[in-house]
Parts: sequence; structure tokens; C-alpha cells
Amino acid sequence: MNQFFDAIVIGAGQAGPSLAGRLTTAGMKVALIERKLFGGTCVNTGCIPTKTLVASAYTAHLARRSAEYGIAIESPITIDMKQVKARADAVSTNARTNVETWLRGMDGLTVIEGHARFEGPDVVRVGESLLKAPRIFINVGGRASVPDMPGVGTVDYLLNTSILRLDTIPQHLVVVGGSYIGLEFAQMYRRFGAEVTVVEMAPRLIAREDEDVSEAVQEILTDEGIIVRTRATCIGFKPHPGGVAVDVDCTVGAPVAVGSHVLLAVGRRPNTHDLGLDRAGVMVDARGYIIVDESLATNVPGIWALGDCNGRGAFTHTAYNDFEIVSANLLDRAARRVSDRIPAYALYIDPPLGRVGLSETEARQTGRPVLVAKRPMTRVGRAIEKGETKGFMKVVADAETKQVLGAAILGVGGDEAIHGILDLMNAGVTYPVLQWAVPIHPTVSELIPAVLADLKPVD
Ligand SMILES: Cc1cc2nc3c(=O)[nH]c(=O)nc-3n(C[C@H](O)[C@H](O)[C@H](O)COP(=O)(O)OP(=O)(O)OC[C@H]3O[C@@H](n4cnc5c(N)ncnc54)[C@H](O)[C@@H]3O)c2cc1C
Repeated sequence: MNQFFDAIVIGAGQAGPSLAGRLTTAGMKVALIERKLFGGTCVNTGCIPTKTLVASAYTAHLARRSAEYGIAIESPITIDMKQVKARADAVSTNARTNVETWLRGMDGLTVIEGHARFEGPDVVRVGESLLKAPRIFINVGGRASVPDMPGVGTVDYLLNTSILRLDTIPQHLVVVGGSYIGLEFAQMYRRFGAEVTVVEMAPRLIAREDEDVSEAVQEILTDEGIIVRTRATCIGFKPHPGGVAVDVDCTVGAPVAVGSHVLLAVGRRPNTHDLGLDRAGVMVDARGYIIVDESLATNVPGIWALGDCNGRGAFTHTAYNDFEIVSANLLDRAARRVSDRIPAYALYIDPPLGRVGLSETEARQTGRPVLVAKRPMTRVGRAIEKGETKGFMKVVADAETKQVLGAAILGVGGDEAIHGILDLMNAGVTYPVLQWAVPIHPTVSELIPAVLADLKPVD
């Protein structure tokens, strides 16, 4: 059966639903195809459930520290993991239902459940149905990579999807991958009471960050009893009576970490392998990401790729921004480009790391004259009052243009306070503009002008 539309959206992740909303409001007849869960990764197996679990883990951590605040909890705290999971499930389900209800009630939109596959540049198959449209928007997201490491096929392992189904606490969780997703799970499960080992191939955790950021993050985690094994160059897996034996290091340290559970958190790959892209002639790069131009158009006229599958972002806010770029260019005659976006993200360990723009290392590599300022959270009043003084704030600026190039705020409220810098950079103003600002006391953000005033040349 052939059906004709003005536009087809594949995937109900972070860009597709909003795009469907704009297209239908513009009077188009639109089909949106989703093969699994409305809301995609963020809503179901990413941001929303994990940040809900991080909140439970934070509560456990604070309860254990309650005596430091003069609050007596008479007996040791217990974790009701079934309840913790139920809370995360409820928040996630609520968000998913909201997306689905919104889409199903959208005038002009036909929601189709099933797997979409191209049959040609303007034809998509879903089961027995053939859908045809002059505009097709791909928003298929990604999934966890399963690396081809020795023995990986011989053991049970968890991914970000399956670990969310646990309603018991692992005795010992080995997290393979010391980057953003792995570290969030590592700290939360440690706070739920598991022994945790993080195994990372690189010489340090979150290796794309500055060395001082990596070191401070590692210290935060090891202070809580997490074992961190970096430079694990020969990672391999074997079944073990206690669960899974993970080869950690061929030369230095205990060669094996035995976990009751293993989480693989070693990166993501795009869901482009089963989309029939070759039939449409859409080009992908060596890792399977759809190649797009500045407006997120593919090489095939009439086909765009948005969100994680285009490799231009790996976050909910970048996927949503892709929707804004595509819809503004198509419907508002704007000329928005993906490279106008200032990179920003957070790592939701506690305290969180808020990041924007260039790291200090990247700024130095540009060869520009660079100014740097850094302030430990022990010198931030709000952090002292809260009893949460780990981490630091760091800002990097261009000495000649006086533009802020980037910042890292690792500390309580860092995920929020970083927006002061992000807004400054988006406004395109120089940092002295903030020096006459009157921020609210006591906040973490109030120290941003003080840090900017401290900017000094580096050698
Ligand atoms: C554990 C974890 C934590 C995260 N935390 C954060 C965070 O705190 N902040 C943040 O910004 N980002 C976070 N992310 C990343 C964020 O979830 C993704 O960047 C975001 O969901 C990408 O959105 P998307 O629209 O590109 O794709 P997705 O949200 O993955 O949606 C793609 C949709 O397409 C559907 N689909 C795929 N193929 C087909 C097909 N052939 N036919 C029909 N439908 C199809 C999928 O079922 C899915 O619903 C996290 C990710 C993980 C894994």
C-alpha cells in the first residue's frame, strides 16, 4: 500500500517530534515512524532515568553524611533498590507518555509504529507499507557500542539499557569505560552500596578534558571508594565463578578485576546500519554517521539527518538544536548553521562538571595568547555553606580579543552555573562586560565575575 506525505520523520527522539510539530503547524501532511519507545534514548534509557537515579544516589550519600550537618540518623541507611528503580521508571514513563500523547493528538500527523527502511531517495518501507514524501528527516539516534574485545561474547554484560532494568544492587560492578556514561553509573552504584571498579584504556579518566579536571574527578570517585584502573590496554573477559573476570592490565597492578556484574560503557554508534541508506544513496562516514552539511542536509536532496546519527552532537540539547536549525532554515528562511553552536555539556557525577567551549589544552593548542583563571570550590561561599567543596572553576580567555574561549565548573551547582559563561559566549561579548555585574549572594555563579577578574597570561 502506498501512502503519500509532504514529509516523513524517522525516529521519535529529541528532534523528530518537535520537527513534526513545526511541519504540521506549517500545514504539511507528515508521517512520523518510531520502532520502539517514544522519546528515544534520553527519555527511556539515557538522561531522564539516569539523572533520576543520580538523585537517589545523592540522597543516599547525603544521608550517610548527615552527622556532619548535625542531623542524626540513628541506624545505617538502607537502599530499597526496587523503589529506587520504580521512581526512575515512573519519571521516564511519564515523559514517554507525554511525548506519545502529544504526537498522537497532533493535527496533520500520522504516527506509524515499526521499523523504517529506505527503498529509494523518497520512499520508506514500514512492514508492508510504502510511504513516499519529497522531504525525509532521519532522527534515528544511536546505541551502545559493544567492542570487539577478547572474550566479550563469552560473558554476560550490561549496557546502558539493561543496567536500568536492575532492581538489585550488584555486589561488585566493573564499569569498562571511564567516560561520561560510565562514571555516572559508577558513582551512583557505589552510593547504592556496590563495590565498583572503573577500567579505562586511556592514561586518565574523561581523557578529552584537561588533566586537572580528570585528576579532580578521579579523586572525587576514589574518595568514595571506587577503584580506578587506567592504562588498561589489554581488556578481556572470562566467565568466573563470582561473575565475570575482566583482564585489566597486562603489565602493572592486579591483572584481573572480578565483578558480579560488568557494564560496558565504551562509546556509542549510530543506528544507521539497518536503515537501507544505500538504497537512498545517503552517504555515511567510516563509523556509520550520516554525512551532513552545515544545514544538516545529506548528500541526497530532500533528506536531512538530525541528532546523534549525524555525528555532529551527542546530546539531547544538540539533537534539539538540530531540529531548530532545520526548521528555521526550511520554514523561517533563516540561515542557521550547525557550526554556530557553542559546544556545552555536563558530566552528572556529584559534584557535576559543567563544560563549555574549549578546554585549556585546546585553547593553548590554537596558538592564541591565552589567559587562565582557576578558583577551588573551597573558596566559594555557597559550596562551603553546603558542605560540598570538592572541585574548582576554571575559565580560559583570549588575551587579545578578551573573549571567553571556554570554561569548566566542577563543583556543586556546576551544571547550572556554567550557563553564566555559556550565555556570555553566546552573546559574543567580552569578559570585562561581566565585571560590573551584581550577581546574587550566596551562589556559585556569583564567583564567575571574580574568576574573570583573576584571568592571567599563561606561558
Ligand atoms: C546513559 C545515557 C545518559 C545520557 N545522559 C545525557 C544527559 O544527561 N544529557 C544529554 O544531553 N544527553 C544525554 N545522553 C545522550 C542523549 O540521550 C542523546 O544524545 C539523545 O537522546 C539523542 O537524541 P536523538 O534524537 O538523536 O536520538 P534518540 O533519542 O536515540 O532517538 C532515536 C529514535 O529513533 C528510533 N529509531 C531508530 N531507528 C529507527 C528506524 N529504523 N525506524 C524507526 N525508528 C527508529 C529509536 O527507537 C529512537 O526512539 C545520554 C545517553 C545515555 C545512553
